Amino acid sequence: MFMELKRLGERTWYIPGRVNVGYYEENDKGYLIDTGLDDDYGRKLLKLLDAERGVPLRAIVNTHSNADHIGGNAFIQKRTNCEVWTTRIEGILTERTAMEPLLLWSAWPFKEIRGKFIEAKPSKVTFIENAAPIMDTALTAAPLPGHYLDMIGVKTPDGVFFLADALFDPEILAKYRFCVMIDIASAYRTFSMIESDEATWFVPCHAPATQDIHELARQNREGLLWVTEAIYDALSGGPMSREDILSHLGTTYSLEMDAAHLLLNLTSVSAHLTWLSEENRVEPFVEDCRLLWRQKINQNSI
Ligand SMILES: [Zn+2]
Repeated sequence: MFMELKRLGERTWYIPGRVNVGYYEENDKGYLIDTGLDDDYGRKLLKLLDAERGVPLRAIVNTHSNADHIGGNAFIQKRTNCEVWTTRIEGILTERTAMEPLLLWSAWPFKEIRGKFIEAKPSKVTFIENAAPIMDTALTAAPLPGHYLDMIGVKTPDGVFFLADALFDPEILAKYRFCVMIDIASAYRTFSMIESDEATWFVPCHAPATQDIHELARQNREGLLWVTEAIYDALSGGPMSREDILSHLGTTYSLEMDAAHLLLNLTSVSAHLTWLSEENRVEPFVEDCRLLWRQKINQNSI
């Protein structure tokens, strides 16, 4: 795979890929923002930085703990002895990466969900705040709640805003329908916060860098709303479990998924059900030892 450093500001670059990785320099030291999927990607990143910049790497700033963002950490940290900076709860998962599949399964995970797409190699972390200057650098962390536990964006002093997984490419939205979200209300607030930001460049991890973020934010808002309403509509035929809902939507829209992907999609279905219940549109109940969801009769419409 061809890799290149693309310059976005005086001291800021990014490396386009399956996961866009950020790079920043200050006082002759380098900083990576996320590291891609695995050892191999970590090795390629180091090779590229060595050839193009030749500056010692001081730290990796991780936006969150999903494997496709921290997978290169272990290799890079071993090679360069750099630090890894991330928020407390994401950091705990970065040091104990078996927690990622455990969260999906809610018990010690089985091997089929422990592949490198879910469980990265662990790395040693130093905690940072989610809304403050990052250590003694001119970088700033900005909270981006919605996608994961305590995900941050990273702002550079030359006007680049790395957006982690707050927004996805419309092609990904159309293909997968469910993009991982654990908190829908927060995701909407995050979209609005990003839209009102005055950065020169916005760099989502899973969409091309852009200078105008409004269209992408609009498409993501629309995509999220589509999933909420599809789940609500699925319940018009009667109560369903979250597994029933996913099966119904998955077969209707021909979505392919293995065990890990199915559990990730269930996370999203769960988040939308929480959001719908907060909006007083659905409610849970237990019947025959199954947790079912039904539409709520809206008092105003009677
Ligand atoms: Zn990601």
